[in-house]
Amino acid sequence: MLLDLSKRALFSQALDLTGCGRALRASRIWQGVLILNYHRIGDPQRSMLDRNLWSATQDDFDYQVGMAAKNFDVIGLDDLEDVLTHRRGRYVMFTFDDGYQDNYTEAYPILKAHQVPATFFLTTGFLDASQIPWWDDIAWMVRTSKLSALDVNRWTSSPVPFDQPHREGAIHRLLNVYKELPGESTEEYVEFLAAALQTGRCPKSVADNLWMTWDMVREMRRGGMSFGGHTVTHPILANLSSQQQDWEVAECKRRLVEELGEPITAFSFPVGGRSSYNSFTRTALETHGFRMAFTYHGNYCRPGHQDLYSISRTAIETDIDQRQFRAVVTLPQLFA
Ligand SMILES: [Zn+2]
Repeated sequence: MLLDLSKRALFSQALDLTGCGRALRASRIWQGVLILNYHRIGDPQRSMLDRNLWSATQDDFDYQVGMAAKNFDVIGLDDLEDVLTHRRGRYVMFTFDDGYQDNYTEAYPILKAHQVPATFFLTTGFLDASQIPWWDDIAWMVRTSKLSALDVNRWTSSPVPFDQPHREGAIHRLLNVYKELPGESTEEYVEFLAAALQTGRCPKSVADNLWMTWDMVREMRRGGMSFGGHTVTHPILANLSSQQQDWEVAECKRRLVEELGEPITAFSFPVGGRSSYNSFTRTALETHGFRMAFTYHGNYCRPGHQDLYSISRTAIETDIDQRQFRAVVTLPQLFA
């Protein structure tokens, strides 16, 4: 069972006020691995990019890592397979997707201070060529456009207003259109938006210092962090042909192995919902030696979890306050 946001807030408050949360954390009410997923750490308020990518402020992340380290066994990637298949207990794992540079500048110092490992899934093409990802490109266009709405067009069934207070909703809606498109139409769609919103594409200079460098990645690896694949260009894999999927998986792995000089066996699906990958994705992962794949379905992994190509993670987002975070890790059956 999953609770909607308002119920989450209410129940998490009750957990705290009744003192139940503390008792439950000390009990064995759940067993398994709760894998938390983050994207960016910091304050999104002034960003022209997609603010939904920020998962926590530095202060909240510091609290979350400290709280997990105090109450649970926090494991790294190397322990996961053994824990999933053989061990009983309550484990928490921290993961990050995409490879944003604040993972190094903001998250890594906090993880180090708490001596907690984390696993980072990298979109290799972003690190290699300082690309603006499609979600940040579209968000930037909506934020900088002088227009107040997008007229009816072949991509959206009705006009999309994006003056305040509609702006965040408009970004969300235009990103959802992208996610449904076959891979060969996505570039045409983004080009259409650039023309229709009269902004052009987000300037490449915005991507300066947006992604980690490979030197940062190697430093974090020496510091006990782990790395996995997240494709080259961050497409919705299920919208690609089997050959395109194979290339995204193989080339991402090749670059990671080249830069890190060690086997890479873990992968997380871009976007990560059930419709974002398919059987061709799994074939490509098996073919290229990925042994584990992480989803974005929510929930946690029970002991004896068998399918290593469908490992559940739960999203941590900036609207999760400290109380709600305590609820997520205390009762993941309800909150994760
Ligand atoms: Zn991603």
